[in-house]
Amino acid sequence: MKLIVALALFLALAGAAPAQTSTQALVLHPARVWTGSAAPPHEGWVVVVADGRIAAVGPEGSVRRPANARDIVLPNVTLTPGLIDAHTHLLLRAYSIESWDDQVLRDSEATRVIRAVGAARDTLLAGFTTIRDLGTEGAGYADVSLRQAAENGAMLGPRMFVATRAIVARGAYAPRRTGYRPDLDLPQGAQEASGEAEVVTAVREQMARGADWIKLYADYRFGNSSESRPTFTQAELAAAVATAHDAGLRVAVHAVTDEGMRRAVLAGVDTIEHGYNGGAETFRLMAQRHVALIPTLAAADTVRRPDSAAFARAFRLALAAHVVIGSGSDAGVFAHGQNARELELMVENGMTPMQALIAATSTDAAILNRSGHLGVIAPGADADLAGFVGDPTRDITALRNVAIVVSRGVVVRAMAPE
Ligand SMILES: [Zn+2]
Repeated sequence: MKLIVALALFLALAGAAPAQTSTQALVLHPARVWTGSAAPPHEGWVVVVADGRIAAVGPEGSVRRPANARDIVLPNVTLTPGLIDAHTHLLLRAYSIESWDDQVLRDSEATRVIRAVGAARDTLLAGFTTIRDLGTEGAGYADVSLRQAAENGAMLGPRMFVATRAIVARGAYAPRRTGYRPDLDLPQGAQEASGEAEVVTAVREQMARGADWIKLYADYRFGNSSESRPTFTQAELAAAVATAHDAGLRVAVHAVTDEGMRRAVLAGVDTIEHGYNGGAETFRLMAQRHVALIPTLAAADTVRRPDSAAFARAFRLALAAHVVIGSGSDAGVFAHGQNARELELMVENGMTPMQALIAATSTDAAILNRSGHLGVIAPGADADLAGFVGDPTRDITALRNVAIVVSRGVVVRAMAPE
């Protein structure tokens, strides 16, 4: 289907900030509306948007139409809440284009920010209106600036929850120092800390610079090991979590080993990222303690490391253990704007299309502590919407056929009139 870029998008790309603050009310008339709940889509419903919020949703004729509202008719389109990707890296680009080491060691922060502006636009226009960006990978606090730019209309991008630099155990991340002369001070992809005191300091420094989330690495491949091994001690993890939670911030933990996952869960973290080698007992512990899993199947599928084959098995174990499963793709490892790949893989590996969509809407919103505001079409919620040709609640591949994106109450992508 032919797509045109709406006037609002043109203005935004031209640098005209008013596109982001337009207050013209909208009445959207899709073929069906899926509100983000377990109920199937409703045919013949309309959604009213005013002042950046959803004013009403329901059968046509039952909702009040604001004066001067603009009608948008969307035949054969399913309107959904704007999708959420709970694990991205806007400041990375696909490893198939440039290796992670080269991005961190060769590219200036300015170069990476310029690319990230395009990545933010590609993400939003794919229907992902909110992201949790989990680490700048050597680009400092640039994610805080990107978040502000998306908020104030300086760039077109999703709502962002950011983790800034992320925190790793000293010597346990990358670029690996082996292979370089030992007196070379290599920049690292995250902030290094060792011991409870340094970990607490790192958390406090990142919070002071604008982090919404704290991201820790509970395990990684380091030194001479080709396999991931636990990095932080139980006490270091617990100290980080206590400091973040005291300040009202949540904690995301990269963990691919069963031991790294177990320590993180016992430390009281909020989400486990990847979890590729989690065992049944650890997933039971996660379910008991309401620790959510972000499986990042798309990243595993992209890089195909030796441990990648395990991801499908772990995902099924997590499903069977009734772990809360959110949706996050690790976009950046692969191209931004291809975020829907994660939902396709969730369905290939045992979720129904509806379960995958719930993960990427209401579950991710709950993980972000934004239930009722994001990931739902309901009166009073933020007006972030996506529309797809066909019905993604029956066929997840419909997510690749974007018909409309509404972000902060403004149309940023729209179907051409027939
Ligand atoms: Zn990641």
